[in-house]
This record gives sequence, structure tokens and C-alpha cells, in this order.
Amino acid sequence: MATTQTQAKTKALTPYQVKRYSRHIIMPQVGSAGQRKLLDAKVLVIGAGGLGSPVAMYLALAGVGTIGIVDFDTVDLSNLQRQVLHHDSDVGRPKVESARDTLLSYNPELHVITHEAPLTSENAMDIIPNYDIIVNGADNFPARYLVNDASYLAGKPLVDGSILIFDGQATVFLPGKGCYRCLFPEPPPPGEVPSCAEAGVLGMLPGLIGTIQATETVKLIMGVGTSLAGRLLLLDGLDMEFRSVKIRRNPDCPLCGDNPTVKELIDYQVFCGLA
Ligand SMILES: [Zn+2]
Repeated sequence: MATTQTQAKTKALTPYQVKRYSRHIIMPQVGSAGQRKLLDAKVLVIGAGGLGSPVAMYLALAGVGTIGIVDFDTVDLSNLQRQVLHHDSDVGRPKVESARDTLLSYNPELHVITHEAPLTSENAMDIIPNYDIIVNGADNFPARYLVNDASYLAGKPLVDGSILIFDGQATVFLPGKGCYRCLFPEPPPPGEVPSCAEAGVLGMLPGLIGTIQATETVKLIMGVGTSLAGRLLLLDGLDMEFRSVKIRRNPDCPLCGDNPTVKELIDYQVFCGLA
């Protein structure tokens, strides 16, 4: 499949990898070279919860070689209705440990890096710059703005997703081509948008949106297809309708606009009116 030129440039796949990823390798859009890119990629998944679970699981199965996971929480019984990385026997364990064990059980060649801490303005720039792509599974507004700002400041693509009740959305923010603040300059007043803990979420919704985020991530890694950058994909799970709306960079965006005012990470609890 691969040309000798490609083989000379990249490390050859092992016989185990050729067999394991054979359904990828026969695809002209992937091939040995694309699989090699996946094996060499480093992806950071924010949160080992509803969205982070299917994202990390499918990236692991696809052979994304290094997967970082940030989470500070422990597995709660109420997580098991949707968070496929965790099993009944994991209740009470740190989510990053449960996630690592599950991912390695799927694919023992993975390199899983666990960051057992909340992502904060203090640690974000120590973690995010070490990865190629950031995938957002944050479940609250301070974390969502923090991940957005840190990814932009570090020059990393951000594959964004969110879910609530029967609804979900996903998009891709490429540095300099728009960001979450272009779309939502101000956080909603505290309490106006309920959390999944307050309003609920259908167990499959994170699977649907997380799988889309994983798909966008591997497309970015391999450089194939048309990404969701510039489009916000909206899912109405109750009527099962997908639609996408065009989004664009806002020249007045305080982060990625022409005259930015946000040049470093801020206090996101205060910004969201929670401190
Ligand atoms: Zn922006």
C-alpha cells in the first residue's frame, strides 16, 4: 500500500498493527501513512465523563498513540448511565484511573497520560501545549471558557462538544479561525442554563456527540475531509434531526479578534459570576 517514499519517512507498522488496523489501512483516505499519523498523535481529552468517555474510547480503538485525560472527580454510581469508560466496580475510584484501565484493556499499546486535577488557569498552560489537539468534554461554563482560551493561546485546535437533556452540539475551533467566545462572548447568568446534574441527559446523547468529536479529531490528525470548523452542528435527539449553522470569527472577539483584550488566562469562576 504505502509507497517506498512514505515508508522511508515514517516508522513501519508492526505486523500486529497492520492486522489490528487493517480496516483503516485498506481505506484510501487512511492507508499506512494515515494510521502512522494516528499512532504518532497526542490528543488531550478534557474530562473522563459523558463526552470524554466515547471520545477517548474511539480514539484508543482507532490507534491514537497518546491520549491524555484531565479529570479530578471520582466515579459516581449516577455516572454509569452514560460514561462508558467506567464500570460498576469502579464506583469511588478516581475517574482518570478507571479511564486508563479501560482504555488499556481496549488497546494495550496506548500511551495514556493521566492528569488527576481540575484544569485551572494555573495548570492549563503546563498541560495543553504538550498535545496536538484538545477535545472538550467539560460540563460547566468556567471550564469551557478556560479550555477555549488556553487552546487558542497555545495555538491548538479545539474539538468542542456539549450535551443537555435530548440536545447536543459540536464544532471545531482552529486557532485564528474563530473560537467559543466568538459564538458566546458572555457566559449565561449563573443558574440560567441548567447542568446535566440539574436537568438530566439521555444516556446515549454523549455517545452521539462524543463520537462526532472523535471523528473530527481523527480527520484533523490525518488531514482528510471537511472539518466542522466554521460550522456548528446541532442535534435534536428527540426528533432526531441534525442541522448545521455557519459560524465565523468575530473581529470584535476579546480573545481571537483584531484587538484582543484577553491575552492570558483569567479567573473563570469570577468571569462566570460564580466566585
Ligand atoms: Zn474568538
